[in-house]
Formats: sequence, C-alpha cells, structure tokens
Amino acid sequence: MNVRDSEHMIAELNAHEGYELTDDATLADLILINTCSVREKPVHKLFSELGVFNKLKKADAKIGVCGCTASHLGKEIIKRAPYVNFVLGARNVSKIADVLHRDKAVEIEIDYDESQFAFKDFRSSPYKAYINISIGCDKQCTFCIVPKTRGDEISIPADLIVAETRKAVENGAKEVFLLGQNVNNYGRRLSGGNEKINFTELLRRVSAVEGLERIRFTSPHPLHMDDEFIEEFARNPKICKSMHMPLQSGSSEILKAMKRGYTKEWFLNRARKLREMAPDVSISTDIIVAFPGESDEDFEDTMDVLNQVRFEQLFSFKYSPRPLTEAEKLEEVDSEIGSNRLARLQARHDEILDEMKSVNLGKVVEVYFEELRDGGYVAGRSDNNLGIKVKGSEELLGTIAKVKIIEVSRNVQYGEIIA
Ligand code: SAH
Repeated sequence: MNVRDSEHMIAELNAHEGYELTDDATLADLILINTCSVREKPVHKLFSELGVFNKLKKADAKIGVCGCTASHLGKEIIKRAPYVNFVLGARNVSKIADVLHRDKAVEIEIDYDESQFAFKDFRSSPYKAYINISIGCDKQCTFCIVPKTRGDEISIPADLIVAETRKAVENGAKEVFLLGQNVNNYGRRLSGGNEKINFTELLRRVSAVEGLERIRFTSPHPLHMDDEFIEEFARNPKICKSMHMPLQSGSSEILKAMKRGYTKEWFLNRARKLREMAPDVSISTDIIVAFPGESDEDFEDTMDVLNQVRFEQLFSFKYSPRPLTEAEKLEEVDSEIGSNRLARLQARHDEILDEMKSVNLGKVVEVYFEELRDGGYVAGRSDNNLGIKVKGSEELLGTIAKVKIIEVSRNVQYGEIIA
C-alpha cells in the first residue's frame, strides 16, 4: 500500500509541479520519506534517516515525511526534526502538491475521504499495476495501529477499479495487484453511496477485463474467507493461486485477545478447503509471537498450525507494543522468551521449506517476467508466486512463458523456458 501511495505522490508531483525522480539525494529538490508505523523499529529508523538526509541534501531542498508515522506523530515530527518542511498523513496523499508550498504544513486528517480522487498516473513497473480497492481499516485488532493511522475503511466504487484495470492493461500491464487492508471485506462501506458488491463479485468483474491475465490481491482476512470466495479463487483462471492468510496466532485464546474474530479451528478449516480446491496454491502468512499473555501452550498452538498448514512463505514478528492500541497497556512477555519463540518458529519454517522445495524440481510453470537480474538472468513469478530466474535478456520482460524448474532453493528457483 505504501508503494502505491508513493506512486500516487510521484504522479501528482510530476503532473502539477514538474518533479522527476532521482535516486541521488544530493541532487534532489525534494526528499520524501514514506513511513510505516506497524512496528516500533521503522519509527526509530525515521529519525536517524532524517538526520542523514538533512546532511546530504542541497541547502534549499525540502524534506517531507509521509505515511502512517506521519499520521500518528504529526507535528511532533517537526518538533524533533525542525528542518522537516511538511508532514502528510497516509489518508491525505492527494494533498501532496499543496503541502509542498506551505512550510511546516501538517496534514493528517484521519476522516479525509480521498477514495474517489482521480490521481495522475505513475507506475513503477509497466508490467504490474497496483490498484487500491479500499482505504483505511475497520478491524479492531488489539495489537494494530493501522486503523488509527489510515482511518475508517471505505471501499472504492467497482466501476472505478474496473476502469483503472482497463487503463493499466491498455498501458501494457498483464497483472493487477488489488490492495486493501481487508480486501475480502470489500463492499462493507462504499464511498458516495455506490452500488454494493462483495469482493468475490469484484474479482469476477475485474477478471472480465480483456487482455488482463493475472490478478493478485492483499491482504485478505481469514475471517471473511467464505466458501463462495474460496471457490471463485480456485475456479477463476485469472486469479493467481497464491493466498495470504495472516494467522497472527495459532491459539484461539490469543486470537480472542487480539480480536481477530476467528479460531484456530476455523483457520485450519479454511486452509484445508483452500488446498483441496486449489491444489497448487501457495499460502503465505503473518505471525506475531509473544503477544501479551501468550503462554508456552499458546505458542505450541502456533507451531501446530505451522506444521499442519506448511506455509510456503512466512512473515514473522515479535510483538511490538504500539501507541493508540488496546494491547499497548498489557503486560509484555519476557523479551528473551519472545526472541526464542521467534527463532524456533523461523527455524521450523525453514525446515518445512527445505522439505517442500524438491517438490518443485522438474515442474513446468507459467512465469511472468518482470525484472532483469545480474549475471544475464531475467526474474519473474509463477502463478503461485514462486520466484523464478532464467537466463535471458530484455525481450523476455513483460512476457509469459512456460518454464521448467531445474534448480531449487528456499527462496529462488532456476528454470529454462520450454515454450
Ligand atoms: N491488515 C493486515 C495487517 C497489515 S500489518 C492484516 O490484517 O493482515 C502487517 C503485519 O504486521 C500484520 O499482519 C502483523 O502480523 C504485523 N503487526 C501488526 N501490528 C504489529 C505489532 N504491534 N507487533 C508486531 N507485529 C505487528
């Protein structure tokens, strides 16, 4: 979502103010830092990075802080780093060209509705288009700061999403990546009293766009993975067979304390149904260890889910208390216990990956090539999200080809094109 927000800012600044991108901070007239506040570490990093950029920048260059940490810290950022010229919250991206001209502006209005704002167009990849389908988040997960930084959940009208898809395809993208905090809760609150449809119906409409070959989306919420959704996912050939199922914890007790709305059994049931209906699916997950009150037994439940579902990809975190959240005041699990649990979880996941990787050897998959890599390689992803490299050059970019996997490792596989 931050990548898409950055693309929107780049597009607005280019169209209205004539700015162009540079990777060299010493040449920049404007330095934008787009921030995350989900965990504490990136917030600390912001202030050290600001210090670095302040030293590197041209004397008259401006610095702007955007994104979730901007929403959450607001004018505090200018207090701590007085050379910052403006602060722009995650919910106020469309105001970028305006704050640029108002020194010390702090625009962090949380109720601001820019869900139908017609942003100018910029895409960092010509092959894949990120498309927002909703903004904000209505969940109340007790660990999570996102609803406080991105505001209430508002779904973007389906006809706008379909039109954006069509335009991306006309401009050469074969793949769209639909974005929202709870994509499969789509339609709960639509901006401007528009027609209400659910995510499954939205997927059908997007997939009807001619020339579009692949649809990905993130993040779906396990609670809203009903049969209709899983069946459409399995049956629709344009939907890539890669599903993110953020577990957070395998313990039903902890899930309740997190206010996730599902149990261990529901999660396992949904993962089983998914693997039954779409046998090639790869499932990724997010797990938080050491949420306040997590006992050894609770953690064993998480290990149990890991062992049963055998995720193809794991994003795992030690719980980090966040301001403005319900869990902030709860007594924390001993830090060393948390670190040990995280290490155990990751080690077991690595073992599972090693056990599973040979399954891919010799398989033939369809790969969409998106990036040139060192050593004469071109990299792309299979439908079910395997990272695959083949020997080749530019002509492959933007094409889809059948590839036989000839070498496998935990994170990347090598292949050769067979058709
Ligand atoms: N809406 C998404 C979450 C986006 S945040 C969802 O429900 O899946 C991405 C991930 O960061 C979360 O899934 C969670 O695993 C992690 N996270 C969020 N808050 C956290 C916290 N306080 N401490 C540690 N990890 C956290």
